[in-house]
Amino acid sequence: MIPAAPLSRQPAPTASATAPSPLQPSGWQQALRRAVRDPGELLTRLGLHEAALGVCPQAAAQFPLLAPEGFVARMRHGDPHDPLLRQVLPLDQELRLLPGFGLDAVGDAAARSATGVIQKYQGRALMVATGSCAIHCRYCFRRHFPYGEETAARDHWAEAIARVREDASIDEVILSGGDPLSLSTPKLAELTDALRQVPHLRRLRIHSRLPVVLPERVDAALLQWLGALPWPVAFVLHANHANEFDASVDAALAALRGSGATLLNQAVLLRGVNDSVDALAALSERGFAAGVLPYYLHQLDRVQGVAHFEVDDATALALHAELAARLSGYLVPRLVREIPGDTGKRPLR
Ligand code: SF4
Repeated sequence: MIPAAPLSRQPAPTASATAPSPLQPSGWQQALRRAVRDPGELLTRLGLHEAALGVCPQAAAQFPLLAPEGFVARMRHGDPHDPLLRQVLPLDQELRLLPGFGLDAVGDAAARSATGVIQKYQGRALMVATGSCAIHCRYCFRRHFPYGEETAARDHWAEAIARVREDASIDEVILSGGDPLSLSTPKLAELTDALRQVPHLRRLRIHSRLPVVLPERVDAALLQWLGALPWPVAFVLHANHANEFDASVDAALAALRGSGATLLNQAVLLRGVNDSVDALAALSERGFAAGVLPYYLHQLDRVQGVAHFEVDDATALALHAELAARLSGYLVPRLVREIPGDTGKRPLR
């Protein structure tokens, strides 16, 4: 069993945790060091005042603010309802303890098969590679995950690799987290070099928000690593709003596609961020223009502190039906919810 976690995320990711000391940090690591970590600074940059927004130091202490400068630059100046700002701003609403909202909404603990390895679905093994991310999303379903004990990279991947090697039914490894691309490229290569010796592995999937929130991460070293992998690679990106894309993100995604990877996007349906047909259609269309196919639209995972983002099922179903009526089928993500114990994500319609 995964031990119960305290309310604060462990460890609070920092840029220095990802730097390959004593080597000189690369450009993306320097960009991560410059990320905004102070709510007051963020609001000052946007011309907003803390008091009017319900910004909460206690919420920030439990799960610190983290937003790369490039992501902040995509927020609208002077708009307290900006959909990117709402995803990262710690608010007093997060402190409400509500029935039905727990610490492990998706049953990660019950599906643990080795340190940092989660096996829920046939043929797949998910590695919680690291607890670090380049951004802290307030609605994160793993915001209470016990990363201090449960990360696959911490013993040079040894236990996680052994688990994959001993289970011949695993043909796909999923790198997740945290964000696996917050690890250095040599650290990722350490894993994939070992996985090359696993004959039953057929695919590699990488779940990452970094190409969107910190496109500097898609550098020459990462592309070289990706291009040399022996398996087809699926990148499942995570963007919730069309405004998260800009020219720098487009360039990063084009480079990922150039490496041969297939790009998909999963979004979370979030009140006040993307809970309108216009916003969801714009997300699909903007993503596709950048070479990304919509994959999943998740109903919110009910973890403590995220209730203010929830969209009820009736509204979600109506939005999805309207989206399907408006867009080509390939631009309509599957509306799903994760139910602990299910054999796959459960479609809502
Ligand atoms: S990037 Fe993913 S794992 Fe990290 S805080 Fe956001 S949703 Fe959670």
